[in-house]
Amino acid sequence: MPKHDRIEKVIIVGSGPAGWAAAIYAARANLHPLVFAGRPKSVPTTVLPGGQLMLTTEVENYPGFPHGVTGPKLMAYFEQQAMRFDTRIVTDNGFKPDVSNPDDGHGYSYHDCKRVDLSKRPFVVVGEDDTEYRSHALVVATGATANWMGLPNEQRLAQSGGGVSACAVCDGALPIFRDKVLAVVGGGDSAVEEATYLTKFASKVFMIHRRDALRASKIMAERAKNNPKIAFQWNKVVIDVLGDKMISGVKLQDTQTKRESTLEVSGLFMAIGHTPATAFLDGQLELDAKKYIKLADPYRSTTSVEGVFAAGDCVDSVYRQAITAAGMGCKAAIDAERWLGEKGIH
Ligand code: NAP
Repeated sequence: MPKHDRIEKVIIVGSGPAGWAAAIYAARANLHPLVFAGRPKSVPTTVLPGGQLMLTTEVENYPGFPHGVTGPKLMAYFEQQAMRFDTRIVTDNGFKPDVSNPDDGHGYSYHDCKRVDLSKRPFVVVGEDDTEYRSHALVVATGATANWMGLPNEQRLAQSGGGVSACAVCDGALPIFRDKVLAVVGGGDSAVEEATYLTKFASKVFMIHRRDALRASKIMAERAKNNPKIAFQWNKVVIDVLGDKMISGVKLQDTQTKRESTLEVSGLFMAIGHTPATAFLDGQLELDAKKYIKLADPYRSTTSVEGVFAAGDCVDSVYRQAITAAGMGCKAAIDAERWLGEKGIH
């Protein structure tokens, strides 16, 4: 296995808002962070470069952008800012020292992290080409991916900004959804929260759920049932998403009778759970029942292993916003810097 000689002060795995914010703060603290920014569609992939915002079109709720910004452009700005202060990225051609053009999008030659060995000091971090890197501190900011049904037309319209999304808080206020009939898939707290949020803009919101009872907490379920703008499609699964450039409806199948029907909607929001990207940790960090990283102290970024800090959606199943992830990334870098200082590593 090839070895990289230098012992890094901090390696950051992840390149969403949490990863780049950690890199900006770590770089400005002279820690020369090394980032595994991820690779799309590598198998198995740990990280999507730029994170979930790469799948979003317009971002209107990130402070500092009064007229909005596209998700990919925002992440390119994050990356540029990190690179300005001596961040290095592991790529096919060695470490990337230059700054990408936000208008060009990402060059997808970044490397994923395959696995880590946290039982050794310094920690061992193995890249996708099996090169071993060593680091005193590690920041895990690998995010979580929204679960999708995996239907071809669902993916096509989600990627082209055709009115299919996995985040109502991110996309729900866009003009294309105003005064329209929308649908949310799922029956958990997120689905209720998203449907309720969407009623601020939509004329009507259907909740499409595969059973006849919500999984959501009682109080949330009551809120949805008492909302005059929310209607339910019980015992239904979406079997196709209709529409060419924009969604025009969904094809549903009744889980009991198997009868198919069409529901006309102008927007579809998936709320069928998230999967945190923590499998590569291979049980070396304490996780909760849903595989999110458990923080040792809820106000910090410390984890069950000293010297490992975690930030963003791989920790957070509740807020899942770019701004909260970025804040957590900042905390992780500051925690790492202080911990390295306590250990006499400058
Ligand atoms: P969740 O509780 O796991 O609910 C996922 C929902 O999606 C379930 O209703 C499930 O149906 C449905 N589903 C899953 N896979 C599906 C598929 N392939 N096709 C159709 N439907 C599918 O996830 P969540 O709502 O994102 O919540 C995650 C955690 O965060 C929960 O612990 C929740 O309480 C918490 N949370 C809390 C709040 C709050 O308190 N304000 C807000 C959001 C989230 P079944 O019910 O049939 O399994």
